[in-house]
Amino acid sequence: MPKLPPPDPRLALLRGSVPPKRHNARTIAALTTNPGCVRRAVLDTAGIDKDALARHLEFPAPFGQSSFAITRGNAFEAQLKADGCAELLTLLRETLELDLTEVAYADLESVGDNTSEDVRNTYSEQQLAHGGENTLFDHPLLRLIVAGQSVYLEPDLVAFQHQGRFHVVEIKSFAVIDGQADPSKVAAAAIQSAVYVHALRQLLGRPEAVADEVVLVCPKDFSNRPVATKVDVRKQLLVLDHQLKRMDDVDTLLSALPAGLSLGLAPGPDGTPTRPVGELTAALGEMSARYSPDCLSHCELGFFCRDEATGCTDALGTAVREQLGGVDTVAEALQLAQGTWAGDEYQAEVAAVLRTTARVFSETA
Ligand code: SF4
Repeated sequence: MPKLPPPDPRLALLRGSVPPKRHNARTIAALTTNPGCVRRAVLDTAGIDKDALARHLEFPAPFGQSSFAITRGNAFEAQLKADGCAELLTLLRETLELDLTEVAYADLESVGDNTSEDVRNTYSEQQLAHGGENTLFDHPLLRLIVAGQSVYLEPDLVAFQHQGRFHVVEIKSFAVIDGQADPSKVAAAAIQSAVYVHALRQLLGRPEAVADEVVLVCPKDFSNRPVATKVDVRKQLLVLDHQLKRMDDVDTLLSALPAGLSLGLAPGPDGTPTRPVGELTAALGEMSARYSPDCLSHCELGFFCRDEATGCTDALGTAVREQLGGVDTVAEALQLAQGTWAGDEYQAEVAAVLRTTARVFSETA
């Protein structure tokens, strides 16, 4: 791993001189869900604690799995990994259509008694690079550089090597019922797996050494029987690569902001934030946001940005944003629909569609 340059001092100023919040696979995956949002890119590049920010702004966002889902997920994973991943291996044989007689199993969770991240990462790197054919690697600790900082990624991942090629295996606890799973959960698992594929490729230095298709393992129907599905993550890898490069270009992101801008919460002696909410809101307003309803499930600032976007057509979702391109507010759209405002030459086409839609609705009402 290359030696990292010192972080840009403007990032510490933006954070209010507190340590950066560390990324994990979930937060890195979330970077790709709204790549057009400058606000999110700046906050994540600076390692700002968006959850603390949202709470202080009085727009807390509930995030994370329920304890029931976590317990169920852990039990399912333990079942698959029992006896050196015996059940998982049977599934992989079927899914990847492999004729395997013997498979080695390497657990990389600790190195002797040493569980430090640096030691585990080095050991994982050695094992993955030279660990031999037909091997299941459990708990490898991968590393990525995100916005100039090292991020360790510990997947519930099993990386399976066969004939010199790795396959990322992602175990999830959401059910596949009658061959169908919740599309939003599959999409989230795909992007998280893409993070692991990306990190594994970086570690090995050979993109072709890691398959574009990951194996997603979920419980089948209402049982604990596993089912495996191959998921192509090429599209997710492209978006991820774009967003990580964008975060590396710290200078471009920061040079558009006013000098001295800070989102620090100014904690008092007891750790409680003292920064006036109005001041913080104004500081956030310096970074353009691109709210869409999806933000509520992907970004800690979702409720804040939704409130800020009230009355904007963007807040109604991507489909509406695309159909009403150039019409920024709901009030403008209504005026165009009712014919009380003609709009400018760029809005003529949208205005005609809105007037037709309004007429159809009034005739059928
Ligand atoms: S919630 Fe706000 S900051 Fe987060 S991605 Fe959406 S618009 Fe950007």
